[in-house]
Amino acid sequence: MSRISIVIPVLNEESNIDPLFERVETVFQELSYDFEILFVDDGSTDQTLNTIKRLHRKDSRAKLISFSRNFGHQIALTAGMDHAKGDAVLVMDADLQHPPELIPTMISEWEKGHEVVYTIREKEDSVGILKALTSKIFYLLFRSLSSTQIPDGVADFRLMDRKVVKAFKRIRERNRFLRGLTFWVGYKNIGIKYKANKRHSGKTKYNWRRMFNFAIEGITSFSSLPIYLSVYIGFTMGTLGFGYGCYALYIKIFTQHSIPGWASTAILHSTIGGLQLFLMGIVGIYVGKIYTETKGRPIYLIRDSVGIEGRDDT
Ligand code: UDP
Ligand code: MG
Repeated sequence: MSRISIVIPVLNEESNIDPLFERVETVFQELSYDFEILFVDDGSTDQTLNTIKRLHRKDSRAKLISFSRNFGHQIALTAGMDHAKGDAVLVMDADLQHPPELIPTMISEWEKGHEVVYTIREKEDSVGILKALTSKIFYLLFRSLSSTQIPDGVADFRLMDRKVVKAFKRIRERNRFLRGLTFWVGYKNIGIKYKANKRHSGKTKYNWRRMFNFAIEGITSFSSLPIYLSVYIGFTMGTLGFGYGCYALYIKIFTQHSIPGWASTAILHSTIGGLQLFLMGIVGIYVGKIYTETKGRPIYLIRDSVGIEGRDDT
């Protein structure tokens, strides 16, 4: 019987583990597939770890990889995909915002030959207006800046064929925006809509600062346009500045009333100063990325694992 591996990143989700496992189990009772759930503990400080270990003793289909500290959601997903043995790998959140009841539909699309089955959040009422709006803006910006096209509201809830997972294993960059990479790898894909539920319990791990960083991460790892943009803007401002200088010179030489233009000088100074900081910031982001990539540190470190076959300690 084919097996589906379900990868679930968890950061302080103690009260979501058991309900999630039960719902997945119920779904699979109707399916002709085996399943395993690979929980990737991303540095939880509550009872998440013990809950998963207890669950594993009851049912060995629940497995665990535990990081040495918090490495982040995208990296937890990566570690799960690295260790998943199934014929297809499905990734989803732990908080039941991604309904397990959608799994049969995802599997049937996979059976039809789609190598990636991604999902799109349809109803936004459980997410909050502000989050829905900023997400829309982000995807719009992403699409206009990057040649990789990703649809609105695509979630980290997707099924991937073994082939795709193998392709992902060859992508070893640290700055990883999986939603983008999913489309970058290509393969035959299809999107299905789902209605996001409210978080089962616990709090969101993404505050505004993390969301903002995540957005910058996503765009800068898929587009070099901002860095070119900085050259264009810099060039335009430079030209304008030169023109203004000529004009000032003209006033000084050919008219007698050259009033010291304090205001315009001040304005120019501040705009150009601000602009320079902005452009340097953009360059800095990319340089920083190059720096972290060239260090070649491991993407994640594992402290402990339970039920993982052929554990690799590389
Ligand atoms: N998560 C994680 N590491 C992090 C942040 C989040 O493993 O640093 C997990 C979290 O436990 C959950 C999933 O990633 O299973 C999505 O996080 P969350 O539900 O908090 O995000 P939201 O749905 O609010 O965007
Ligand atoms: Mg959530």
